[in-house]
Amino acid sequence: MRLINFIRQRCQLGRPAARALIVAGRVRVDQRVQCDGGYRVTPYNLISLDDDCLQQGTPLYLMMHKPAGVVSATEHPHHPTVIDRLPAEYRPGLHLAGRLDLTTTGLLLLTNDGLWSKRLSRPEHKVAKVYRVTTALPITDDYVRQFEEGIYFAYEGITTAPAQLQLIDPFNARLTLFEGRYHQVKRMFGFFDNPVVALHRERIGELVLDPVLAPGQYRPLSEAEIALFP
Ligand code: URA
Repeated sequence: MRLINFIRQRCQLGRPAARALIVAGRVRVDQRVQCDGGYRVTPYNLISLDDDCLQQGTPLYLMMHKPAGVVSATEHPHHPTVIDRLPAEYRPGLHLAGRLDLTTTGLLLLTNDGLWSKRLSRPEHKVAKVYRVTTALPITDDYVRQFEEGIYFAYEGITTAPAQLQLIDPFNARLTLFEGRYHQVKRMFGFFDNPVVALHRERIGELVLDPVLAPGQYRPLSEAEIALFP
């Protein structure tokens, strides 16, 4: 959204009053004065007026057991989104800390704290994401070696970072990734022409999906869970 609209909404001001604040240099985006009301801001930006942080109301941190068939997005023209499952009062400023594909289930984090989600998602922090993978064809030891070595993704021109694969049985494995690329798990198994038939995220770092949550259910994170990503 544009900065001027953000200021209008958050400060309940008309357009001229919001513009006056911005032009006066009283609004900062990520600690830099921003005088252009048309500047685009996202939930990841830290926005302040004078010395007050405007971005967050009450900080909110949720874990959800994402069901299949629901999009990891705040809005979508054709599918229900994870945000649709939450009460309206939770929604302002809420965004996803990482996404899962439409068919993927499991641990999804939502927050209105842009700095927290940024820390969680920064590639250099190498937060482990653990997936339970079910495939159409048997998984062999070759996969373990190849995933450890990395797989070349021609589209991006990169090789995936070393990943750990633990076989559970011939059609099921646990995969630990330290990065998050588009459809990464499916593309890694695609290297062996082995379709992924089910994908479930069990854990992000030390944060484990609460087993009491049925698909579609969510709960706030505890203080200790929030502190896992300082
Ligand atoms: N990798 C995928 O292919 N899909 C997901 O949803 C997450 C990781």
